[in-house]
This record gives sequence, structure tokens and C-alpha cells, in this order.
Amino acid sequence: MQNRFIDLYSDTKTKPSPGMRKAMADAEVGDEQKMEDPTVNRLRDRVCELLGKEDAVFLPSGTMGNQIAIRVHCRLGDEVIADRTAHIINAESGGTAANAGVMIRMLDGPYGVFTGEQVKEAIRDPNSRNAPRSRLVSIENTSNGGCGTVWPLATMQGVTKVAREAGLSLHMDGARLCNAVVKSGTKASDYAACVDSLWLDYTKGLGAPVGASLAGSKEFIHEAWRQKQMLGGSMRQSGVIAAAALYALEHNWDRLAEDHDNARHLSEGIANIKGLKIDVPRMETNLVFFEVTKPGWTPAKLVEACKERGVGMGTAAGNRIRAVTHLDVNRADIDSALKVISDALAA
Ligand SMILES: *Cc1c(COP(=O)(O)O)cnc(C)c1O
Repeated sequence: MQNRFIDLYSDTKTKPSPGMRKAMADAEVGDEQKMEDPTVNRLRDRVCELLGKEDAVFLPSGTMGNQIAIRVHCRLGDEVIADRTAHIINAESGGTAANAGVMIRMLDGPYGVFTGEQVKEAIRDPNSRNAPRSRLVSIENTSNGGCGTVWPLATMQGVTKVAREAGLSLHMDGARLCNAVVKSGTKASDYAACVDSLWLDYTKGLGAPVGASLAGSKEFIHEAWRQKQMLGGSMRQSGVIAAAALYALEHNWDRLAEDHDNARHLSEGIANIKGLKIDVPRMETNLVFFEVTKPGWTPAKLVEACKERGVGMGTAAGNRIRAVTHLDVNRADIDSALKVISDALAA
């Protein structure tokens, strides 16, 4: 048993640091709906600068960012093109159907990264009265279900070219865009230039307790504000949480490289444990997916056994286990976790 529970369940498991809490306590606040919260306004300006977009809106969650964007881009019955593993399909409680009334055309990555060619094949005949209307391409970078895979900029530009030529809009789920930026060295604004709307999550690797920012053109964000209000996402003195987001952007962005190193270390350790199977080079960022091949074991059984011994992980689609590195676990924790996993499987 570990002295301290090592929680690799998700990068959402971080707790605000003392420095972040101080920034929150000291935040100047006002009514965000009246654009009178100076901290929320400062976050908007910072996000616009970072992403090279005209405007941005602060939201309680990234999920709301996806839902709002799809509602703004699409009309009832339109079709969204997305990878089969996408969060908008698998992890938003059917919101894409319930909130936006759209169809989804699923592509097979691989690893969540599809090509312009695949998009071209998926776009419906615009002259057909019978087919749904292709309207939006949604890109997830990094791809969560695709093992944290980073989109190569050229691949994304290929998708953008095909979509724009066909008159489709593009949206990016940037829950882990900062991981993609740190890993690839591609600027966030270069990724952002490929899409009409995108959002950043402050509660994943960046370690803030609440919030995401959705960015796009002035007109897009004007409409996004209406949808934010409609979905009940408008807040008041949200500078308290926007301060955490600003703090996260400043202090916790570059250090994501450490999480990637730790994830690689974890992957290599897992590769050395008999009864587990992992594709080490595939784990590019902070998400680590692996299979349990030992007879008589399931992912759920190993997750439970590790939890009892002080290490948290989760089961994932495809009969896999997912472990995630983040700013509240260090290299020594990874070594301890590897020992726990190994011992649990040997018991
Ligand atoms: C976590 C996540 C979301 C949702 O973000 P929340 O802020 O938790 O609502 C969306 N997409 C991906 C890929 C995610 O990992």
C-alpha cells in the first residue's frame, strides 16, 4: 500500500496549488455577463493572443464548448464529421443529438487522426435532397481515445483545405491542445488557424479547478454567448476561476513536457511487466493505454487491485486500461505505481 494515493485516473485529478489558490483569492472580479469582470476580460485577451482569434468566451467546461460550437455551426439534421473515438460522440451524454440535433459521420482515424482524403470521401453530395447536409468537421487534438496522439500540422491543414473547399466549417476540441503544442513545437495559433472555432481546457494538464475558453471570430463568439446563456453557462464573478486559468496558462504550460516524459517512463515500465501489453511509441503525450493479457485478468480487475494498493487508473474502450500523468504526480510516483501494478498482477 502506498502512503499517498497516486491518482493516474485522469489529468483532471489535480488540485489547485497554493500559488493558484492565492491568485484566485486575490482576483479582481465583477459581473462577467456585463463584461465587467476584469480577470475574465484579461483571460479573453490572453486567449485571443495565444490562439490568434478575434474573440473568446469563458465557459464552465469544455463539454459546453463543444456543445455550443456545434449548435452555432449547425442546423437541425446537419452532419458533423468526426473520428469514431471523439469525445463529442462517446462522452457528452448524447448532447450532440439532444442539444444540436445533428447526425455524426464517423471516420476511422487511425488513432483519432484522419486525413483530408477521408473527409473528402465522407462529405455528402450537396445536390442530394435525401442525404444529410455535411456541415462541420470536428478535430480532437490531442486525440484522447487515440492514446493522446498529436495531430501533425500538415495533416490538419490537409483536412482544412478539403473542408473549406466544400464549404464546411471546422471546430477543434482542444481539451489537450497544450499537450499537442508542447509535444510538437507547433504554435497554438498555427493549429487554431486551421479551424473556425476551438477551445482550451484549463482542468486537464493545466491543473485549474474549473473552466475552458472557446475562441473564434467576433460573429461566432456573439452567437456562442447566446448559446452559453441558453444552456445556463453564464456566470457572474467568475474572475475567481478565470484567475486560476490565467495562472495555469502562465505556470503550467511548459511543464507539460515533464508529464510526457513521465508517461513515456510509465509506458516503458509497463512494457516490462509480464502479462501487460503496450505500444510504447504510440504514447506520445500524457495518456497511457495498455491491455492486460494475463489469463484470468480483466482491465476492471487490475484497476480494482491497484486501487486497493493505492494507485488509481481507469478502464477504457477497447478492453484497455488508461493511466494519465499530470502535475500532481512525479517520477518517483511513477516508479511506485509501476511496482504496485506489477505486484498486483503477481498476487
Ligand atoms: C475532458 C475532455 C472534454 C471535456 O472537457 P470538460 O472540461 O471535462 O467538460 C472534451 N474533449 C476531450 C477530448 C476531453 O478529454
